[in-house]
Amino acid sequence: MSRIRIATIWLGGCSGCHMSLLDLDEWLIELAAQADLVYSPIADVKRFPSHVDVTLIEGAIANNEHLELAHIARRNSKIIVSFGDCAVSGNVTALRNPLGSPEQLLQQVYIEHSDPRGKIPHEPGIVPVLLDKVMPVHQVIPVDYYLSGCPPSAPRIRALLEALLTGRKPEVDIRFG
Ligand code: SF4
Repeated sequence: MSRIRIATIWLGGCSGCHMSLLDLDEWLIELAAQADLVYSPIADVKRFPSHVDVTLIEGAIANNEHLELAHIARRNSKIIVSFGDCAVSGNVTALRNPLGSPEQLLQQVYIEHSDPRGKIPHEPGIVPVLLDKVMPVHQVIPVDYYLSGCPPSAPRIRALLEALLTGRKPEVDIRFG
C-alpha cells in the first residue's frame, strides 16, 4: 500500500490546533509508519507540494497570503479538512470583523491605542495585506470535512486521521451548507 501524503497548514489561528495534533504523542510514531508529512509549520518545507492526499487547514482566511495558500492547497490536495473552529467558523480570528475596515483596525492598534506617533507597517511583499473580512475556509475553497473544536482534542484528531488512512468516512464529519 502506498504511503499517505499529509500536509498541515497554519493560517489565521493561534497554533493551538497544531499543538493538539502534537498531543497525539506516541501515536505520531504509528502515523509516521503509514504516512509522510509533506508540508507543515512543523516541517522545513518551503513550497506546498503537489499530489497531497489530506491537508488539515488550521485558522481562518485573514490576509492575502492565507488566500493564496488555501487555493494552492485545494488544487493540490484530494481531501481538505477545516481543522478547528477558526477554520470552521472564523472563531477568534474573525472577532476583528465588527471592528471596522482593516485600515480602521490598523489605525486603532498601531496609533490610537498604542503610540500617536506610531507607524502602520507597510512593506509590500513582506507584510501580508489584511482582507476586508476574515472568512472561514469553506467560504474561500471547497472543504471536504470539518473538525470543530478550539482546539479539537487529540483523540478526535486521531479518529479523523485513522478513518482517512483506511479510506473510511470520518465519523467526526460535520458538513456545513
Ligand atoms: Fe487556536 Fe482555537 Fe483557533 Fe485552533 S480553533 S487556532 S486552538 S483559537
